[in-house]
Amino acid sequence: MSAEEYAEIRAGVTAICADFPGAYWRDLDTQQQYPEAFVAALTKAGYLAALIPEEYGGAGLPLRAASVILEAIHASGCNAAACHAQLYIMGTLLRHGSPAQKQRFLPKIASGDLRLQAFAVTEPSTGTDTTQLKTRAERKGDRYVVHGQKVWTSRALQSDLMMLLARTGPAAQAKRRGDGLSVFLVDLRQSIGKGLEIRPLPAMINHNTTEIFFDGLEIPAENLIGEEGKGFRYILDGMNAERILIASEALGDARWFIRTAVDYAKTRIVFDRPIGQNQGVQFPLARAHAETEAAELMVRKAATLFDAGEDCGPEANMAKLLAADASWHAGEACLQTHGGFGLAREYDIERKWRETRLFQIAPISTNLILAYLGEHVLDLPRSY
Ligand SMILES: Cc1cc2nc3c(=O)[nH]c(=O)nc-3n(C[C@H](O)[C@H](O)[C@H](O)COP(=O)(O)OP(=O)(O)OC[C@H]3O[C@@H](n4cnc5c(N)ncnc54)[C@H](O)[C@@H]3O)c2cc1C
Repeated sequence: MSAEEYAEIRAGVTAICADFPGAYWRDLDTQQQYPEAFVAALTKAGYLAALIPEEYGGAGLPLRAASVILEAIHASGCNAAACHAQLYIMGTLLRHGSPAQKQRFLPKIASGDLRLQAFAVTEPSTGTDTTQLKTRAERKGDRYVVHGQKVWTSRALQSDLMMLLARTGPAAQAKRRGDGLSVFLVDLRQSIGKGLEIRPLPAMINHNTTEIFFDGLEIPAENLIGEEGKGFRYILDGMNAERILIASEALGDARWFIRTAVDYAKTRIVFDRPIGQNQGVQFPLARAHAETEAAELMVRKAATLFDAGEDCGPEANMAKLLAADASWHAGEACLQTHGGFGLAREYDIERKWRETRLFQIAPISTNLILAYLGEHVLDLPRSY
């Protein structure tokens, strides 16, 4: 399936993005504020409901369409981090929620009346070793009572609902890695100040991320998704989609960096010649272009497999790895091409450069993808 098949979506998203130029993002970045108007425009146009089935009010599109939406946002110089999770977090609810839960939440998520864009997995003391997480939810009658702490829970202050992964059974008794973890849908509107505290976590980029403290938060048992103790598997199910979509954002960044650098390299005259005539300037851009094209092929392959319902773990991971590297190299080449002006805030390059750096670390770090490929694709001994 080619991107051209979604030319209308690409054009529609790009047209919305034109209303949100660099100055909009620079101001928000300075103030570490949330891009409300941008998210509202995408919601109104229906793009954030792309993956929700039509029976629940969404567009029922394949993952590849969402991939094009996110790539187009980033290729336009905008950033989808404020709302990308609205596209895919609901996947866990869709695949593993009860009919009653889906009826209750999905139509309102599709219309944008409910924001489900916070996903609380990472904890300060266990990091990437998710199966060892410590936040615990204890069943007491018709409720679960939660104690613990999460870190880097992005957009919690801009969400109505949050997906929470918490321990309901001891790690030591787990038959399989990850057994004993459960997924809950937390209604943040009813929880803040009642055993749940959210604190902003200022970061290198404007990501509206937070720390969350649980001290006796009560969650109705009806908000448990699927079976108790199986939550880790449910979360794993959604990770391939997330990786493909984040890779698409990285691709968009790479396209923006290369286009911006090429335009500048053609017009900036130093030593009586355009700087782009020098191989030292030209070659890093040519290499970044080749890497981006290659990464795009892997993103398309992974999305095609995902949409066909086939296993796409290796491809989703490789797509994320290759696209993150392509965007980082393109960012470096773009910044270097601009010389000192690359650091001037008004060019937006330093902002995009900081933003694209994240893809080496989140949602999964480069090393952990390499470890996955080493173990699961190359059949080498597990390294950790
Ligand atoms: C801006 C931002 C937003 C985020 N948003 C969210 C969110 O919304 N929800 C959420 O749950 N999390 C979120 N995260 C967390 C993110 O997923 C983690 O930061 C990431 O998975 C890495 O985990 P860690 O920071 O604990 O690093 P660690 O696990 O402590 O790892 C540190 C470094 O060591 C390396 N390392 C660790 N173990 C190994 C090994 N066995 N072999 C080789 N290298 C290894 C890693 O690659 C990494 O470079 C966000 C993070 C950031 C920075």
